[in-house]
Amino acid sequence: MTTWLPDLTQQRGPRYRAIADALAADITTGKLPTGSRLPTHRDLAYKLHVTVGTVSRAYAEAERRGLIGGEIGRGTFVRARVDSAPTPAPLATDWPRRYRHMRMHSCLHLLCAAVPAGVTGGSIGDGKGRLDFDAGETVLDKAAIEAKVNALIAQNLPVTSRWIDDAEMESRPELVRTMSVKPPSGQGRVRLMEVAGTDLQPCGGTHVRATGEIGAVRVDKIESKGKRNRRVSLSLVE
Ligand SMILES: [Zn+2]
Repeated sequence: MTTWLPDLTQQRGPRYRAIADALAADITTGKLPTGSRLPTHRDLAYKLHVTVGTVSRAYAEAERRGLIGGEIGRGTFVRARVDSAPTPAPLATDWPRRYRHMRMHSCLHLLCAAVPAGVTGGSIGDGKGRLDFDAGETVLDKAAIEAKVNALIAQNLPVTSRWIDDAEMESRPELVRTMSVKPPSGQGRVRLMEVAGTDLQPCGGTHVRATGEIGAVRVDKIESKGKRNRRVSLSLVE
């Protein structure tokens, strides 16, 4: 419907708001059903003896209220009504999957401790994960890294979190192992994850309570990604 013409005789206040109010009223009564196409700005302005700018403001106001929406090249339409009590969307955590992610995340912190190089990237997947290191000339030994990480796991070291303020974080740059990504600052505080006596770094992730929960892991491969970059991929041994 492009012939909609509001009755503004009962509306008070600025014209643009009167048009927006009339739109709202006609949508409520069903006179303008969902999907109705509204007149063009120019057309409505002509019929109401107002400026095009007034109609534009009215439509903008109605859009701000969620009543209508524009589609480029197609026009302006009445939106589906949003009930005041929306149906809650069901949310559920896939716990087994989440737990595998937690185990792998904690494991990557151990990998950080096992490889004496800056971290340039990483990824956590379901049951597997990887970190990229700026290893330079250092040759990374797959078997040695696997043995070291598994030894840290076997020690069942406590994994704990605490908060420090931005100032302390700033004064301890050695805490940041990731070379390319800086931890978020400006919130006043940063969360630190600590694997007792092994690794301490800012992290917002989910972790196990003690490294023993990780279980045995395997280093699958060490790849060369660039001149200095080495990618270490590992997986949980289920
Ligand atoms: Zn982390």
